[in-house]
Amino acid sequence: MDQHKIPQATAKRLPLYYRFINNLHSQGKQRVSSKELSEAVKVDSATIRRDFSYFGALGKKGYGYNVNYLVTFFRKTLDQDETTKVALIGVGNLGTAFLHYNFTKNNNTKIEMAFDANAEKIGNDIGGVPVYHIDEVEERLNEDVSVAILTVPAQAAQGIADRMIEAGVVGILNFTPARINVPAHVRVHHIDLAVELQALVYFLKHYPMDEEEVEEPEEE
Ligand code: ATP
Repeated sequence: MDQHKIPQATAKRLPLYYRFINNLHSQGKQRVSSKELSEAVKVDSATIRRDFSYFGALGKKGYGYNVNYLVTFFRKTLDQDETTKVALIGVGNLGTAFLHYNFTKNNNTKIEMAFDANAEKIGNDIGGVPVYHIDEVEERLNEDVSVAILTVPAQAAQGIADRMIEAGVVGILNFTPARINVPAHVRVHHIDLAVELQALVYFLKHYPMDEEEVEEPEEE
């Protein structure tokens, strides 16, 4: 299975599909139609059919897709058996919420340790995650931790990112409004919640949803 052949847009929908298919699998369901999938994950069925063809899953008319095949494929592709260890920097309001949430229910990632510069936060255990001083990053971060979540103030983001990368991090989920510069081997995904919310409100105002434009899902 050559994962490089899966387009990025399709790859981004993989965890979404996986969550739904995995639920069906736990309920003992054997098959699912693209219509059902489309309604559940809110992706139009033509896109689902195209995505699934990259996964080597071809839906049959009147049958749909084989749930077992899909679950096996998604687990293999998303490396569900292998947990990615994550560090979180900045145990403020947002950081604390993530530590309590800790993504483990539907995901193969786990926040192993957190760092902060504020002495009052050091030594705490939040949601089972120890909080260390930021100056311990270099000694605490071992090769196992490849991903960092940044929930520090914007002005601290670049400096912290540099330190994390120096310590071996190759993926950064940046929740600060700051755009950070990283070397070519590092991937940064940027989530600015304030901008997302503003964009949603703007779209609601200027591009109201038109019922007629929503494509009717077809049966395969
Ligand atoms: P709080 O109410 O706890 O201050 P907040 O989310 O409003 O939370 P921010 O100012 O955004 O606070 O800071 C987030 C967290 O990042 C804080 O816990 C702060 O101590 C920490 N922080 C700030 N600068 C650094 C730094 N250079 N390295 C590590 N952590 C930092």
